[in-house]
This record gives sequence, C-alpha cells and structure tokens, in this order.
Amino acid sequence: MSVVRLEHLTKVFPGGTTAVDDFTLTVADGEFLVLVGPSGCGKSTVLRMIAGLEDASGGDILVDGEPVTDWAPKERDIAMVFQNYALYPHMTVRQNMGFALKLRHVPKAEADRQVQEIAQLLGLAELLDRKPAALSGGQRQRVAMGRAMVRQPRVFLMDEPLSNLDAKLRVSMRAELSRLHQRYRVTTVYVTHDQVEAMTLGDRIAVIDRGRLQQVGTPEELYRTPANRFVAGFMGSPSMNFATVTLRGRDPVTVTLGGVTFPLPDALARWPGLLPYLGRPVVIGLRPAAFALAGPAPATPALPVVPLGVEALGDEKHLLFGAPRADDTEATGPAGDDGPIAVDEAAASQLWTAKVAAHADVSIGRPALLSFDLGEAHFFDPRTGEAVA
Ligand code: ATP
Repeated sequence: MSVVRLEHLTKVFPGGTTAVDDFTLTVADGEFLVLVGPSGCGKSTVLRMIAGLEDASGGDILVDGEPVTDWAPKERDIAMVFQNYALYPHMTVRQNMGFALKLRHVPKAEADRQVQEIAQLLGLAELLDRKPAALSGGQRQRVAMGRAMVRQPRVFLMDEPLSNLDAKLRVSMRAELSRLHQRYRVTTVYVTHDQVEAMTLGDRIAVIDRGRLQQVGTPEELYRTPANRFVAGFMGSPSMNFATVTLRGRDPVTVTLGGVTFPLPDALARWPGLLPYLGRPVVIGLRPAAFALAGPAPATPALPVVPLGVEALGDEKHLLFGAPRADDTEATGPAGDDGPIAVDEAAASQLWTAKVAAHADVSIGRPALLSFDLGEAHFFDPRTGEAVA
C-alpha cells in the first residue's frame, strides 16, 4: 500500500516566486501519475518536495496516511530518478546499483543477488563492471532506474528521465518503463513536459500551469473533456486551434469564420451549457484532426485557407494557415483591454493547423477548402477560459 496525498502543498522560494500554489492531489496505490506543464510551471518543485529535497512552505505530504512533510529524504522510503541520472562516476554499475543496499547494511551476498536480478531484468547484466563513462545514454538511464528499483521503495519519483535520450531510444525506454510498471506496480510520480510521454505512460495526468493544478484525469478525459482552454491547448499535438466567435441566430445557430457562416448541429445548439452564450462571444476550439480537405464544390460550408506551410509526415499531412478571421461585428465594437478584440488580434497572428490525409493535394500558397464538424468543437468562456459545460 503506497498512497501519496498532497494537501494544499505550497512552495514560495525566498525571492518570492510562488512555484507551487495550493496543490491538492491523491496518487493511488500502484498508480502511474504524470505531472505535465510548460517549463517553469512547478513540476520539479512538486517532485522535490515529495522526495524531501525541498521544504514545503505550506500544506502537507502524506504517504499511506502518514504526514512525512517534515521527514528527512532518507526516512521517506521514496526513490528518485533524475534527468541527468546522477550516477557516481567512480563506481561501477554494480556498485552504483548496490549503493543503497550497502548503506542499509544488507549482507553482501544478498545485495549482489538483488543487483544481479534487477540488472538481468534491465539488460544490464553484461555491463555490471563498467563505469558510467563507458555507457551509452540509454544504458546510464537504465542504471539509474535499476539503482532506484534495487531499493524497492514505496514510491518512485522520476524527473524527465528520458529527456537526454535520442528520439528512438526514448520510445523504446518509454515502452520499457511501461512494462516495468505493469509488472511491479510501484506508485510512481513522473514529471515530463512531453505530452506524448504523458499520454502513453500515465494512468492519470495532472496538468499544471503557473504552480496551480489545472486538471487531473485519464489521458482520454483530458483530451476529450479539457476543463479549460489551457488544458485543451496543452494536450494534443499539434495543439487545438482557437478563435473567439459569436453564436448568432436561433434556427439554426451559426458561427462565422473566415467569411463563411457555419450552422451548429441541432444537438449542440440546444446544449444547455451553450445557451448563455447565444449572441455573445465564446472561444471555439477545433482540434487539427477535426478538419478534412474538401473538394472544389463542397456540399456543406467549408473554410477557405491559403496554406503557409505543409508538413508531410508520411501517414498524414499538417496544413498550417493563418487563424481565420472571426467575423464578429458585435465583438469588434468597443471593448475593454481584456475584451474580445484583444483576443482576436492575438489569434489573427497565430497559425492554425489542420491534419489532412497523406495523399491530400495541397501546396503552400495554393488556396484550399477545409470542411470540419462543428459537433466536435470545444467551447470556452472568453474571460475565464473555463470549458463551457
Ligand atoms: P522545467 O520543465 O523547466 O524543469 P518545472 O516545471 O520543473 O520546469 P520548477 O523547476 O519546479 O519548474 O520551477 C518552478 C518555478 O520556481 C520557476 O519559476 C523557477 O524559476 C522557480 N525556482 C525553482 N527553483 C528555485 C530556487 N531554488 N529558487 C528560486 N526560484 C526557484
């Protein structure tokens, strides 16, 4: 049993930076929880507080119900794997992996047996007598993992452990990590800024922005029902496209984008969450996958775009184009600094991305038509950014 609970955890650094702000989260027994967010959002600081490497300014950390907030790192029985692996350069792989057992005075024969077993599991058995300098990045990463596993900790903490590996090795180590977790089910908190890593490894993902927890849920929950615009923009690659539009009319309710009027599907137009926004600005979010290239005379309204970039990825193409103008006469009237005009101007300088079929006949500068299903659109409040629900 190893449940980690963070209660109102807060960290204010001496200079006054609030790195972690009132963070409350429970990591279930055996769960693989991933912390994601942009650089500087406080991910590492949360992890370092759990490990005891950083004091909390407020709040509590409980492991299996017991407050450990004031305990020294070594009393917590938590193992951390760092981005730079932090191996001892003068020790062999065997000594690195067995170090924690030596500190615990585990008899040498037993320690050797345990190191051998984990080394076997991680494909390190042939390398036990080498020093870190004579290992590849991937091998060092495995030694760092092995060293943590030998300790048989209650909790694993991992801070971007794959970020120093090349793309291919990263993918195979990701699969290996996943396999190890399936097998041992040690409660794990894993930090990354790579959302593919987060989506593939996490039982659940916690998204952080500026020290605050934005949403926690399964990868699918975060992708399908983001709680706010930040989460919607962060999860998914390429990112969701946003524009501030006005929902007009009643039957049908319409949205105008790039000079074209699109009717909302009936079910969406009657959706209670959206009713307060009829006739008012709302942020619409469309994932790149919601688009498809339309023929020259489409049966339904389509968005005219001029591709500024075309990225051929083998099995699909990404079409980049300027964010379509939201023809929004009410919203372009006088508005406050944080009103819809400011949002729209920012949007106009942004690029939108559409995923189209690999064989789609598109090229830079040649006008194209994109159809999309408004039924797949997400809607957010323009001022708070909260999802309309
Ligand atoms: P990255 O992905 O870039 O590693 P992160 O999300 O892990 O970022 P943290 O390292 O937790 O972010 O840092 C959160 C904030 O706290 C940042 O603004 C950072 O500058 C600040 N910070 C981190 N350590 C200290 C420190 N020792 N003293 C003062 N401020 C710090």
